[in-house]
Amino acid sequence: MKIIDNIKELREEIKNLKGSIGLVPTMGALHQGHLSLINRAVKENDNTVVSVFVNPIQFGINEDLDKYPRQLENDTKLCENAGVKILFAPKVSEMYQGNKDELTLICPPYEAVNKLCAKSRPGHFDGVCSVVAKLFNLTKANRAYFGQKDAQQLFIIKKMVKDLNFDIEIISCPIVREADNLALSSRNQYLTQHDRKLALNISKALFQAKKDYKEGIATKKSITDNSLKLMEDLDVEYIEFVDINTFEIQTQINNDTLILIAARVPESDTRLIDNIKLWD
Ligand code: AMP
Repeated sequence: MKIIDNIKELREEIKNLKGSIGLVPTMGALHQGHLSLINRAVKENDNTVVSVFVNPIQFGINEDLDKYPRQLENDTKLCENAGVKILFAPKVSEMYQGNKDELTLICPPYEAVNKLCAKSRPGHFDGVCSVVAKLFNLTKANRAYFGQKDAQQLFIIKKMVKDLNFDIEIISCPIVREADNLALSSRNQYLTQHDRKLALNISKALFQAKKDYKEGIATKKSITDNSLKLMEDLDVEYIEFVDINTFEIQTQINNDTLILIAARVPESDTRLIDNIKLWD
């Protein structure tokens, strides 16, 4: 495996690769969720490129950019063992010459960003789309792998690829969870023991909603009420219902409903997101 931290060398290595290229963009602190994407990319492509880059332009001013876990040594081992060809881990100055307001950015439309995570994280998806577009250009990947854990991100990236005619296939990968259903996240490292117990109520609410829906006893209101009750010790940012195909907010639930939750756990003030499809 080649570990590359600069664009010039990356371009040269990419030129020398034979066969298909799969890209897995990450911010590092890799866990089994990331590895599920990486393993799939390795299986489906002749070459897999993993990027590890804590992208500053997708963080707001009061967010966790500085404390975000950086564990490149461990990430390197995991990628090496998984059969990754190139690990691209650039410094910020290699990716951006200038501040965010001096850069050409890709900004998804108001319709896509006027809801869910974008409301509390203005500019977040501009940062995500811009870095992902750069990675697509740099790696010339045939396929890129994204997790359903970040469902709004996945939707927005698919839309960017369609709107801007990127010649790349976006592969959507299921959410990997702990045995007790907590969705894996690099931010779970922040959680105290107490927080972790409270955080479990997010996935509990989602799985309960799915069960109730399958039993025919769920409405949007009943799910909202029950979930908020379960999560009463959390600071719930949103519980929202969208059509998984269009990401439009629904007034009534159906088989295409995706329920999304964002909530903060109190002690460590960690913001977590999770989601579930009501029917599959
Ligand atoms: P991040 O490093 O948090 O930017 O995540 C990099 C990629 O891994 C994104 O496409 C995420 O959706 C995906 N990912 C993160 N956590 C999980 C998980 N628990 N299951 C599946 N994919 C995940």
